[in-house]
Amino acid sequence: MITGEVLQALRELLGAERVFRDDATRALYATDETPKSYLPEAVLFPTTHEQVVGIVRLANRHLLPLVPRGAGSGNVGGALPAPGSLVVSFECMNRILEFDPADRLIVTQPGVVTDDIDALAASAGLMYAPDPGSGGYCRIGGNLAMNAAGPRAVKYGATRDHVLGLRAVTGDGREIRVGARTTKYATAYDLSRLLVGSEGTLALITEATLRLLPAPEAVASLRVCFDSDTAACAAVGRIMAQPVLPCALEFMDRRAIDAIREYGVADGLPAGTRALLMVEADGAADQLPRQIAALEAALAGAGLLEIRSGFTPADIARLWTARKSLSHAVKKIAPLKINEDVVVPVSRLAELVGAIDALAATWRLPIVSFGHAGNGNLHVNLMVHPDDADEMARAGACHDALIETVLGLGGSLSGEHGIGSEKRRYVARELDAETLALMRDLKRWFDPNGILNPGKKLPDPS
Ligand SMILES: Cc1cc2nc3c(=O)[nH]c(=O)nc-3n(C[C@H](O)[C@H](O)[C@H](O)COP(=O)(O)OP(=O)(O)OC[C@H]3O[C@@H](n4cnc5c(N)ncnc54)[C@H](O)[C@@H]3O)c2cc1C
Repeated sequence: MITGEVLQALRELLGAERVFRDDATRALYATDETPKSYLPEAVLFPTTHEQVVGIVRLANRHLLPLVPRGAGSGNVGGALPAPGSLVVSFECMNRILEFDPADRLIVTQPGVVTDDIDALAASAGLMYAPDPGSGGYCRIGGNLAMNAAGPRAVKYGATRDHVLGLRAVTGDGREIRVGARTTKYATAYDLSRLLVGSEGTLALITEATLRLLPAPEAVASLRVCFDSDTAACAAVGRIMAQPVLPCALEFMDRRAIDAIREYGVADGLPAGTRALLMVEADGAADQLPRQIAALEAALAGAGLLEIRSGFTPADIARLWTARKSLSHAVKKIAPLKINEDVVVPVSRLAELVGAIDALAATWRLPIVSFGHAGNGNLHVNLMVHPDDADEMARAGACHDALIETVLGLGGSLSGEHGIGSEKRRYVARELDAETLALMRDLKRWFDPNGILNPGKKLPDPS
């Protein structure tokens, strides 16, 4: 419980207008994209690194849990308040501090919207490559904490691959700078890579130095229809086995296609389409036709029904409509989706898709799968009615079996959404006891009193 003394200290530190305790604000910050809600004690809106240091030191002295938050678009409960916690919203730390095209970097506060970073880079012919689907509203601090990624990850990697350095505050209030401003750096332990993906459990990130790449001159897309999931997965294997690396390689299974047909955005998909790939290439304009020809050659094979290509922004946008409408389209199947974000080696993708089919039949559930095939990362959505106890029990068993399948294929629980509070119970199935013990030791080094985002990322010791 927050005391009057702590409240007063917070108001002196941040200004009274940046400390909220009213019911409406607390309710607004009680949720993220998970269907759960826990009221925080208060919501704080720091604007500077120094204020964050002050908050952490105060909270550490009074053993108050802190829950960092970007836009709250995470879907694993990473930003859900813990009991008695203070939410630290980074929305007002929303300034880009430096843009240096010569060093190809941007220095940013954590509350900047991801797409704004890419837009600024584009003004100088550069790009910030990570492109999560939520890029129009999620914040870079949330991306860093989750190691977010999007379709371009198949060619350019995830958030972690674009971080040069970070400024952060550990759970006991130490101010650290990790990494560098250079693309070569061999001095320290690579603590940037440790903090990226740590989900706010080790330190609060107050500044990031991000690496920029040259923006591609031209882009072209292919929408590729197949008569079966198996044929599409075989084509993914052929694409990844040849030298032209696409900048997106996305998969939709037959239930996803049924959903978009029903949603009315199938735009001339041939009859008999049971799986779809979106393939995109980028690079120098004069080399793009050669890249597209190589990709088309790799796509040719059993079960291929149709390839449509787009070379202009309007045509490309039209081809992507079905894939981009999917999140909304699946909502028509059932009111709740249990959304998994599993990842397997690309060579095992066909086995995963086949196993999901078998699970759907065994547990009598609609399961819609789509995602980033080029990374072996599938969003597997178990569509359920939360009021139907029998269906929910089947979904629980099916979910468990899915995780076993993924781990059996040499895969992992999460490709990009992270663990948060919602997937903690499965972590000990993937990580061995020694590795988990070392992670707990690291947590103690960074956050001896366990005040940073408790109940997230690491499973309960029991
Ligand atoms: C429609 C939709 C599409 C999506 N598409 C993608 C996608 O393509 N790829 C993908 O990876 N994800 C995707 N997501 C999930 C989500 O957008 C990402 O996880 C994103 O990185 C979360 O950013 P956020 O600002 O909303 O962070 P939040 O949800 O607010 O927080 C996420 C985590 O970061 C921590 N955190 C936030 N700021 C800081 C900080 N400064 N220091 C330390 N910890 C911090 C929080 O405590 C929490 O654990 C999608 C979500 C939706 C709703």
